[in-house]
Amino acid sequence: MRSRLPLLLTACFALPTFALGDTLQRSGPAEDCLDLVILGDGYRSTDRADFESDANRLWDQLRTTEPFTRYAGLMNVHTGFRASSIRGPGENNAYGTHFVTLFGTRLRATRMTLLLADAVRAGGEADAVIVLVNTNRRGGTAIGSVCFASSSAPRVGIHELGHVIGRLGDEYSSFSGTPSLTREQLARIYPNLTTASTRAQLPWKDWVAASTPVPGSFFTSGVSAFQGGGAYSSGLYRPRRACRMRTDGPGFCEVCRQHLVMALHEGSRPLQLVFSGSGSARRARLVGPLPDGVWRSRWSGVQAQGLEANVPAGLDAFVDVEDATPWVLGEHRRSLRYRFDLRTGAGALVPGGSGRPARVVGVSTRLRVRARPTTASTILGHLQPGAAVRVLGPAESGFFPIEFDGGTGYVGQNFIRLESPTAGLSSVVGRWAR
Ligand SMILES: [Zn+2]
Repeated sequence: MRSRLPLLLTACFALPTFALGDTLQRSGPAEDCLDLVILGDGYRSTDRADFESDANRLWDQLRTTEPFTRYAGLMNVHTGFRASSIRGPGENNAYGTHFVTLFGTRLRATRMTLLLADAVRAGGEADAVIVLVNTNRRGGTAIGSVCFASSSAPRVGIHELGHVIGRLGDEYSSFSGTPSLTREQLARIYPNLTTASTRAQLPWKDWVAASTPVPGSFFTSGVSAFQGGGAYSSGLYRPRRACRMRTDGPGFCEVCRQHLVMALHEGSRPLQLVFSGSGSARRARLVGPLPDGVWRSRWSGVQAQGLEANVPAGLDAFVDVEDATPWVLGEHRRSLRYRFDLRTGAGALVPGGSGRPARVVGVSTRLRVRARPTTASTILGHLQPGAAVRVLGPAESGFFPIEFDGGTGYVGQNFIRLESPTAGLSSVVGRWAR
C-alpha cells in the first residue's frame, strides 16, 4: 500500500543502532499488501531476544483473531530493532515512549520522526506501525497510523491495531480523562459508534436481526445499539455489548470485523489477472493470496470455469469478481468488488459499481431502453445514436445493464460500444492512494 511515510526518511540520517528484524509474514510486494511493522521501545541490546519473542507473540495473537486469520494473505509483517540505553518506558529510551501520567494507561513517544523512519527502514511501506513498550504496566494508545502497547498485553495491541488498521473508535465508556471530541464528531469519524438509537437510523442496521430490540439492554444478545462508547457513558452507541474495541476478552464485533475486512481490501491488491497462451487459445486466470472459495466471479461473454476463462485476444469483455464473505453486508459490499478488462494484457482493475463508459452505436434513429433484459419488457425510454451511457455490469441475455434515469435500464448488447478500459482508472488511483 502506498504510504506517505517514506518522505520522512529524507529528514533523517543514518543511525547505526537500528537493525532489521524478522519478516514474520510475507505475502507479496509492499505495494500489493498492507504492511505492518512491529518496533520495540525500552529494550536494551541485551533484551533483543525478548523483543523478538514479544513481537512473535503479538503476531500470533493477531493472526488468530478474525478477520486477520482469513485475510493474513493480504499482509506483510516486519520487525525492526533499535536498542535503548534504559529498560522499560521513559523519555530516555530509544523513541522516548513513556506513560503520560503517573497512573494512566496512555503512552506517548517524544521521538516520533525517528520512530516513523525506523518503521520504513524495517521493511515494506509501513501502512500500520505498532511499538511494543517493554513493560508489565498495562497501556496503549493509537495516533494515526502508529500505535503503542505494553509488551505484556498483546490483546491491548490488537485493540490498538483495530484503531490503526480499521479506523475504529473505542467502544468503552470511560477512561481517566475527558473526551476531546463531541459525540457527534466521534460518530462521524468512527464506523462503530453512532448517536442514533433507532433501528432505521443505525449505520449498521444490516447487522441487526428483526427480533433484536433496539436499543439493546443488558439482556440483549447480538448486534443492536448499546449505550456507551467513545469514552462517553451515554448518548453514544456501540454495536455489541462486548468487542475487542471495548474489552480484552472477545474478538471484534461484526461491525468492527466488517470495517477491518474493508480496510484490508483497501490496503492491498487482493487479485490479479494473468494471461497465458495467445490468439484464440489465450486464457485469463484470476490469482490472489486469499483462500479458495473466497471469490465469486461473473465473466461477460466468455466461457469460464470459476476463476479461469478462455479469452481470445482482442475480445472486448470483462469479468466482475466479488469477495463473497458474509462478513461484509449491504452497501459496504461495493468495496469488495473488482472488475478486470479482458482486452488489456495488464488486466485493468476498476472498482465495481462505478460503471464503465460506453456509447450507443449501430442504430439509425433511436435505441430502446427496457426495464428488464428481454424484448418483452416495458420500454423505459430511448437513447439517441452516439449517446454516452454507463454500463453497470456484464451482459445478461444479450442486454447490458446501464444507468438510466437515476436507475437501471437494459439495452441490446450489440448497440453498445465500451469506451477505452483506461477511462475508469483514475478512480482506481484514488482508491490506492488513500
Ligand atoms: Zn466493535
